[in-house]
This record gives sequence, C-alpha cells and structure tokens, in this order.
Amino acid sequence: MCVFTSIANPWHATRNMALRLEAAGYQRLQETASWQLEAGKRYYVTRNDSSIIAFQLPEGGALKDLRMVGAHTDSPGLRLKPNATQRSAGWLQLGIEVYGGALLAPWFDRDLGIAGRVHLRQPDGRLTSVLLDVAEPVAILPSLAIHLDREANNGRAINPQTQMAPVLMQDDQQDLNSLLQAWIQAQHAIENADIVDFELSFYDLQAPSLIGVEQSLLASARLDNLLSCFIGLEALLANDGQQGALLVANDHEEVGSASACGAQGPFLGDVLSRLNAQLGGGSEESLIQLVQSSCMVSCDNAHALHPNFRDKHDEQHGPLINAGPVIKVNANQRYATNSATSALFRDLCREADVPVQVFVTRADMGCGSTIGPITATQVGVPTVDVGVPQWAMHSIRETAGSQDVEYLVRALTAFYNRANLGLVDS
Ligand code: ZN
Repeated sequence: MCVFTSIANPWHATRNMALRLEAAGYQRLQETASWQLEAGKRYYVTRNDSSIIAFQLPEGGALKDLRMVGAHTDSPGLRLKPNATQRSAGWLQLGIEVYGGALLAPWFDRDLGIAGRVHLRQPDGRLTSVLLDVAEPVAILPSLAIHLDREANNGRAINPQTQMAPVLMQDDQQDLNSLLQAWIQAQHAIENADIVDFELSFYDLQAPSLIGVEQSLLASARLDNLLSCFIGLEALLANDGQQGALLVANDHEEVGSASACGAQGPFLGDVLSRLNAQLGGGSEESLIQLVQSSCMVSCDNAHALHPNFRDKHDEQHGPLINAGPVIKVNANQRYATNSATSALFRDLCREADVPVQVFVTRADMGCGSTIGPITATQVGVPTVDVGVPQWAMHSIRETAGSQDVEYLVRALTAFYNRANLGLVDS
C-alpha cells in the first residue's frame, strides 16, 4: 500500500514506475536518441516525465505481436495557478484551477501537501527541473461553519474561484516563490533557486488504509487510476518474459487525453513505429500486421454498486466490490470493448481462476470514458476496457476492494503470458 502514499501526481507516478522498472532490469531509452533495440531485452521511455511506456521483447525472430496494458497517471485535483499568491484577511493563500472532474466538497478540512515539477535556472544559465513533494500539512481549505450558512447541507454550490483557495500562513512578507525556494533548498540542497516555472498540485496527506471489520476495503487518494498503473506494473514484472509485452500509462486522461503525451497524442504510435522498424518487418505493412495481431487491455476503475444509491446502476450490471475485474461495455463506443476482446478477457479470467463482471450504464444515463477508445482510434489495436470496481470516483479519497487488486494482477499476468491472443477470424 505504500505505493500510493507519496505518489501525488503524474510526475511522481512516472518516476516511481521508472524506478521499479530499472530495479527489474529495464533500460531507459531517450526519445531524442537513436534506439538500438535487442530481442530478449526490456526497455522503458517517458514523455513529458508524466507518461511512460515499458516493453519487453521476446527472444529471437521478428516481433509479431504485443500484449498491451494501458492506464493513466493523472487524477482530478487542485492545481496551483501560475501567479498563485493571494492574500485575504491577513492570510497567505494559493489560488487554484480545478484539474479534471473533481468532486469538490471532499477537499475541505483536509491536511494538504503540495507536489509536482519545478523548473530552475542554474547559475550557468541552464534550465533544469526537479520533482518537489512537500509531504507535510502546509495548507488547509476550511469549511464555512454551518451557523454561517444554514443551507450548507442542502446541495450548496461550491465556487472554485472564490471559495477554494487553501490557506497557508498568516504573513504579508512571504509569497509562493519564497516558499518554493525554502522547500527546494530543504529537499534538493539548492540554495536561492531561480524558479522559472512549475506545475504543482495540492494533495491529501492521509495515508491509504485497509478499511472494514474484515479489512476488505482499500481507501486511498487517486485509486483512479494509480491503482491500475500499480496493477499493470505488477503484472508486467511478474510475467514469464516469453512474449512481447507492453505497458503504457498516459497523462491527461482526466482532461480528455488530447496532448503530446496523452492517449490521443502520438506517443504509443511513435514507440510502435520504432519497434516495427527495428524488430518487426520494418515496412508500413508489417506495422499494420503487428498492431492487428496485438491486443490492448485498457485498465481504469469502474463504478461499483453503491449500497445507498442502488438505483444509479442497471439491475443486471451493478459490479460488486471484491467480485473480480469489470469488463466495461458501451454500445456507443465510450468503451472500446467488443465481443471478441471481451471474450478474450473472459478467457484470461477463467485461466487465472478469477471471477469477472460486466458493467453497462443505465440506458437513461450518460457514460464515462477512458483511454481505451481513444487509443483504439489512434492506433487501431483491438481493445477491451476493464477495471477494478470502486466507490467515490474522483473524490479526494476513493474506496476499492482489497481482493480485487490481486484478481486483476492475476488476469493481466495471464494476458502477458498468453502465447496465442486468439483473435484470428474463424
Ligand atoms: Zn480514470
């Protein structure tokens, strides 16, 4: 569980995954360098330091197919504005933008830290970047007392511009820049850092917990979708190494995936082109053959049936906590699952002795989406959308089943080990 505690944003998630990959023998590639890939070796590459692709190449022969698992590194939350320093009633506060579709109410009255990426100018003029993680309760967003708003429990609207700037200290001298300088000095031993720019977020410091009388629940921030990153990585590191295998974790899913490192960008396609050039057939045709012989399992958490809101699910399609991974289906292609990819995933679950469930939204309600259909549209790879069922999606603290984590690791390990993806026409 410690995997979630200090992973506050896409940059820390990417670095954490890179460290684990390196410890397992994966070699880092630079997108700006030329690649010399060898069969039987393992590699990883990042883009924007916030998206990551890792792959293992089978021994000998041409690369014919890839078992791909996809997830996303970002989560909804509060991002600092560029000129964040603001003052009110003697308090230093930091102005925020809401990143993605965050549930806002749970952000009040939490112990908040700050983390992200900061760019510095070195004394010799070079620009560098450091990751910063102020894992101390340096800020809080206090609620307004009910005595001052008797309508607070009746669905009061929250204005993120005027009501959601966390407070940091009573001071009229300090500003964000001076605080950042002190934090960077403490963490990186860089004195009087010349701060050029940053991308920083607030995050909840409460550590993950196993919850419930039988500890059957896992509560943490950012289960959507760092839990899938964790599960995909566990499966990648656990497989037998015999097959072509790839894990992609993209940034920017929560804001639509349209970016250079997002699933709608060319990151995965670029990696597949380079793989094909070196170890596939090297032609345009062999790239199409490689992609069409491969399969993607897109992992993102699913909405579990909530005991207090049972009418929010279709009666036949309410996934239960601790009852196995959920295949997500949507006739309007908000999920990329089709009957062929779903059949493959069901077969993997059978092989791994894991129960499996299916989710379809109510016909009178809208449906979320994920990187699955976007990746399938960009790359053309047959895709199935699956995920661990969870409650409170996009809250500051989300809840999933502790047993479901192991179930999905087993199913994905079976996927990575599968010799024949079984998607050929009959
Ligand atoms: Zn998600």
